[in-house]
Amino acid sequence: MTFRFVSRSLLLAASLAITSTALAADSKPQVGKAVDAKRILKAGDNNSEWVTHGRTYSEQRYSPLKKINLNTVKNLGLAWYVDLDTDRGQESTPLIIDGTMYFTSAWSKAFAVDARTGKEKWRYDPKVAGEKNADACCDVVNRGVAAWGDKVFLGTLDGRLIALDMATGKEVWSVQTTDPTKRYTITGAPRIVRGKVIIGNGGAELGVRGYVSAYDANSGKMLWRFYTVPGNPAEGGVTDKTMEMAAKTWAGDWWKVGGGGTVWDSMAYDPEFDLLYIGVGNGSPWNYQIRSQGKGDNLFLSSIVALKPDTGEYVWHFQTTPGESWDYTATQHIILADIKLDGKVRKVLMQAPKNGYFYVIDRKTGQFISGDNYVNVSWSTGLDANGRPQFVKEAFYVTEPAQVAPTPIGGHNWYPMSFSPLTNLVYIPALEASSKYSPDPNFKVNPKGWNIGIGFSNTPVNPTTAEAAGKSKGGPHLLAWNPITQTEAWRVSYPRPGNGGVLSTGGNLVVQGSADGYLNVYRADTGTKLWSYVTQNAVMSGPATYELDGEQYIAVMAGIGGVAVGAGGPAALPRSKYGRMLAFKLGGKTSLPPLEGAVTREVPNLSRAAPMGDAAKGRIDYERICASCHGANVISPTAIPDLRYSRTIARVEEWNSIVIDGARKDKGMVSFSSVLKPDEVENVRTYVIQQANAVLNSAGR
Ligand code: CA
Repeated sequence: MTFRFVSRSLLLAASLAITSTALAADSKPQVGKAVDAKRILKAGDNNSEWVTHGRTYSEQRYSPLKKINLNTVKNLGLAWYVDLDTDRGQESTPLIIDGTMYFTSAWSKAFAVDARTGKEKWRYDPKVAGEKNADACCDVVNRGVAAWGDKVFLGTLDGRLIALDMATGKEVWSVQTTDPTKRYTITGAPRIVRGKVIIGNGGAELGVRGYVSAYDANSGKMLWRFYTVPGNPAEGGVTDKTMEMAAKTWAGDWWKVGGGGTVWDSMAYDPEFDLLYIGVGNGSPWNYQIRSQGKGDNLFLSSIVALKPDTGEYVWHFQTTPGESWDYTATQHIILADIKLDGKVRKVLMQAPKNGYFYVIDRKTGQFISGDNYVNVSWSTGLDANGRPQFVKEAFYVTEPAQVAPTPIGGHNWYPMSFSPLTNLVYIPALEASSKYSPDPNFKVNPKGWNIGIGFSNTPVNPTTAEAAGKSKGGPHLLAWNPITQTEAWRVSYPRPGNGGVLSTGGNLVVQGSADGYLNVYRADTGTKLWSYVTQNAVMSGPATYELDGEQYIAVMAGIGGVAVGAGGPAALPRSKYGRMLAFKLGGKTSLPPLEGAVTREVPNLSRAAPMGDAAKGRIDYERICASCHGANVISPTAIPDLRYSRTIARVEEWNSIVIDGARKDKGMVSFSSVLKPDEVENVRTYVIQQANAVLNSAGR
């Protein structure tokens, strides 16, 4: 099966082809005792709670709970659901503390509900400006809160870190963690070590320099900051021995486009070694020739870095993709586990970053133990004894386009994996596909556009790269991977990319939502499908499980958006208007409301649309600039308007007021006047009208 899909992380969507198969606050709000170090350290033994993002500091997302198991799962039903007030991507993993569930939604909103009933306790809206949407590579998503003391903490899309009173949802403090004049965003969940709230940020497609910071949970005072890439030496960008070491691996004026290396999602903590592990993102720009003259490893891009959590001091790093050129972040989920290798228990760190290799690393030293590709990898032919990749020269697209696997979406993206100590398997939401990368010979820094150094080219790709990338036939799937043997145990294929995070349990179960609108339960050792439920919306988030009053619950969010949710293939799915939180239990009898009748969408009357542009040129600009939100080929799979059905395309003044004058910037649709000239704006409208006419023509057949 061949289809096209859109990625909000991907400006060149057109060139991407996949080959594949009510506030009811109690009068006296109360919470239990404070969340402290001991409580998080003991999280693995506490089945009634889920106190930190990945359930435990090891981030295994495994719960020993087994009331829901191979025999009983058939009785799993909906316990409760909460409809939200946002229709964008929902990516939060909830925390469950003292019977209350805390989670976030799109637009960085936070909620507290009764974990038994879903009854709302409070909600909080940080009121992120709609136009901040334009700085979000991959939708206005948020992946959850952290808890410490009597507070919960969240990062906001506009770069704030906010502490809320756990009992009331009232703001206790708020700090700006980023330079608001730069295009930073926060989508990741904070982590907390001994009262230090650790938070990263995103924006490597938009020209920023990555870092993580630690803030005092009580006061909001910043305690330390660790930059992941060196800055301009002339402006104090190389401050210490660590930055000196990193700067030696860069060339030219790398700081001009920020360098990248944002820490936008994964972290883990090992209490025994007192090490905080952070996953570092891709280069800014992606194009290594532009970024660093094609020279040097460019530390700490695409690396896992171990830091001292009290000081932010560097301890070790492991770089997955030296000379990163393909948006191959190492921000993917980091899991800590003790596994038996060659008869010896090893304390390891595991990651399946975007670059397609699965890594097992000694988490004390950073030493490479083993690695192998978990999807087809065509930019590299293998790893050496130290885990350094052997490169395929042509894949660097220096003079001609290259077809490269995996895609900028990655063999695996942010969707959390899970490790089950029962099966010793890691469950990876995987995507086997390839993408075309073309150099941009006319690259100039654009403060308002994307800055990735990738062009749109009709030049054929290098044939050697095309052949190697052509082996990517697996498409989207859930992959059960044996980290001991570095081999596949089983897989389940899906029709669409963008499938959800994973939970594994003591019931020998694996739980994963899918982009086509189901929550699915599989047998953990074999992959046999045991149960599924129509959630009425795409499920991307990581599920959580907890036990209260002797009943085991599984909770997950539904809501389409974010990176990698596919267009193409089947048309947009019928779905609930808003995202929601759903909780399931054995014998649950709640029903979802019926889906409202299929939305009747009509192409507007185009008889007076009078397009005056060049549709072929408009297509290039649309797919380069607009597709990342509105969908490749003008087919929107999300709640973001499908322009073929928008009346604005038939009215040039209205179209221009939006695209040029920014009339809808509050809704996230900012002015594109700095990116597109007026005649180019008309070209885009002409292309969209052409696509709308195609709908009319096919309907007439
Ligand atoms: Ca990226």
